Amino acid sequence: MPGRILVVDDVATNRLILKAKLAAAYYDVLEADCGQAAFDAALAEQPDVILLDINMPDMDGYTVCEMLKSCPETSHIPVVMITVHSAPKERIRGLSVGADDFLVKPINDMALFARVRNLLRVKMVFDELKLRDSTSKELGLTGFLETFEEAEANRSTVMLAPAAGAQGEAWKKEISKMLQVDVIGTCSEREALNMARFEQPDAIIVHQRLMEDGDSLRLISALRARSETRQAVMIYVVSDGSIETAATALDLGTSDYVMEPFEPEELIIRLRTQLRRKREFERLRSNVRDGLKMAVIDPLTGLYNRRYATQHMQKIVERADNIQKEFAVMMMDLDRFKRINDTEGHDAGDMVLKEFSHRIQENVRGVDLVARMGGEEFLVVMPDAGSMVAKHVSERLRRAIESKPFITKSGTELHITVSIGVAIGQPDGGDPADLIKCADMALYQSKSSGRNLVSFHQAA
Ligand SMILES: [Mg+2]
Repeated sequence: MPGRILVVDDVATNRLILKAKLAAAYYDVLEADCGQAAFDAALAEQPDVILLDINMPDMDGYTVCEMLKSCPETSHIPVVMITVHSAPKERIRGLSVGADDFLVKPINDMALFARVRNLLRVKMVFDELKLRDSTSKELGLTGFLETFEEAEANRSTVMLAPAAGAQGEAWKKEISKMLQVDVIGTCSEREALNMARFEQPDAIIVHQRLMEDGDSLRLISALRARSETRQAVMIYVVSDGSIETAATALDLGTSDYVMEPFEPEELIIRLRTQLRRKREFERLRSNVRDGLKMAVIDPLTGLYNRRYATQHMQKIVERADNIQKEFAVMMMDLDRFKRINDTEGHDAGDMVLKEFSHRIQENVRGVDLVARMGGEEFLVVMPDAGSMVAKHVSERLRRAIESKPFITKSGTELHITVSIGVAIGQPDGGDPADLIKCADMALYQSKSSGRNLVSFHQAA
């Protein structure tokens, strides 16, 4: 796996040693000899991982890490701190400012490479998602998608696979004290596997020694391979003090590890960092996945859906206010549509909806918003259009449906009509929902007066 690694150390020999090791493993290595140079290089070169010395004359590694993490252009780059002694207090301080891990000098090669591989995997996924997300940002769609995601975001669930029941209880107590999460305990490898399938936890903490002689590394591999837990955060608790064990766990797909004995705070900060990263990934993924199309387009007709229409209408209202022009809102509903579905079948119904959408689009301007609001109900919003234009266009739309039969696959001619209700928006920044309601009332007027009609809402 190729990757660009920025090595930061004030001592040239230390940089040389690290550079030689990394270059031998085919990584590209960049160097910086002080905190400021590190920050500048990170900004300009966008490395995939930063190995950061803590003790430097101009500013210490904690400060550099804080700078990196608070700058939007560098905050996503993983940082591994390099230190001469790794006391719990130092580790907690480093993790708190956003570092991903610590390596102690002299650096153990296995620990170094396992961690670098682990962080490169994370960074690659992030880069890919970020790239796709920027496309949707350029299309101006993420703003409300994020809000939508937030509304759906729920509390995280953390599952525990401890070495003993008492340990599980202790972890649960510490985690619940500091994080707003739900915690589930398990008491064997088997139970952990089953529970993971049902609960789909966001994070799983696995102790090296499992109860009932379970195999913790096997558990990790299984969880990583399963679709329900593939994206879950996993933290491995190493009890034998062996860096080889930790390296193996990382290579099997653990997100992070902690060595016993540890301060509860360290585990919790690591867990919190991983959960945040997972949330960020989820946000990016869902922006990409549903993003663009699924979130705003009605799959049957290719028109915008209600969610998009409501959002976009707000912009039309604001613009009308800015340029002091009226705009037209039309609600339309296919007459007796249910009968088509009932007598001709749903395929014919779908064909009618598609053909209807097509005819509407052919008869409005490019700047007009056309949306399917649900079922056989459609919305057209025309910016910069007063009642004269609205009258003309709505009549044209009504005729475009009535004048030509819709032909089903089997050749049946269907005579379709549409009822239309129009409301005129005034340039004073009204509420889109109110205007839709007015157009709906006018639509009801058309329906009750015999259908295949256009009615205008009369302002009180
Ligand atoms: Mg130093």
